[in-house]
Amino acid sequence: MRQVPSPNHNGRGEGVRPDIVVIHYTDMTDAESAVRWLCNPASKVSCHYLIGADGALVQMVEETRRAWHAGVSAWDGTGDINSRSIGIELDSPGHRPDAPCFPQAQMASLLALLDGIRSRWPVPRRNVVGHSDIAPERKIDPGERFPWADLAAAGHALHVAPAAAEPFQSPALRAELAAGGYAVPPQDGPAMDALVAAFHRRHLPERVGAPADGVTLATARAFAAAVAADRAAG
Ligand SMILES: [Zn+2]
Repeated sequence: MRQVPSPNHNGRGEGVRPDIVVIHYTDMTDAESAVRWLCNPASKVSCHYLIGADGALVQMVEETRRAWHAGVSAWDGTGDINSRSIGIELDSPGHRPDAPCFPQAQMASLLALLDGIRSRWPVPRRNVVGHSDIAPERKIDPGERFPWADLAAAGHALHVAPAAAEPFQSPALRAELAAGGYAVPPQDGPAMDALVAAFHRRHLPERVGAPADGVTLATARAFAAAVAADRAAG
């Protein structure tokens, strides 16, 4: 692992330990450009780790410090996700021209990194999330082709299969998404549409851009149940 210290960090706050991992893509042409940006004081952004497309790992901020990757965001009932999280950037050109795929070597490196992080810090599976999960109105990374099922199979995230449709009700969908950890707007509208897109992106990728329906609701219910089981497991 290469160390390239970034100046863009501060303290997490008294007694705060990371219990969330946020996965991003860099949306840049190459890993070195991304590292330079994340270490530039003028950018005011950073992350703890960047994983190259070839799997090479760069650490820029110590895990005990608060890196600046999440921005305005919320998950699991709280905002200020930077204070609680470890941020991992995946070298990727982003959605240009299509949703990105992530090479095998990069995913193997990510799984090994998650093994280490989750042995050092109390990060439950339900709190390994994408940037789009915590900031659905602003962010679409890591994108609908990110292999959440592989992370779940390795024990590092939660993922559910599409569930059979049930009668659709918007209040029920809001309740299930909130139970799953999402910050849910109080009513239908653009913010809710963005949240539905984020949920589809992660769990029902073929439905990105489609409105919520009975499959969305049933799958959100299954995800909320998986989160509840993870919470009960301690
Ligand atoms: Zn991001």
